[in-house]
Amino acid sequence: MVRLITHNLLACHVKNCTSNNFPLAFKDLGDTSLPAEQPDMIDDEFLQKLHHVLLEIHVEEGSMVCPNCNHVYPISNGIPNMLLAEHEIG
Ligand SMILES: [Zn+2]
Repeated sequence: MVRLITHNLLACHVKNCTSNNFPLAFKDLGDTSLPAEQPDMIDDEFLQKLHHVLLEIHVEEGSMVCPNCNHVYPISNGIPNMLLAEHEIG
């Protein structure tokens, strides 16, 4: 399970993707407690909802999408996969 909710987790790490790359958008989580629109800023309320979705609903499968480069980070077995292909690493 994901125990750490950090900005690292929610920011895109693709090479040259350095603006408008935060936060990643959630897709296909099967839960509607997160707002459809990305918030302008990450506040406590958003983090609470995120925590709820990731830790309490136990997202098994889903994905997070970068709002800038549209890179998809799959969530598998409840763990967001933040690994990048070699050409994507800056
Ligand atoms: Zn990106």
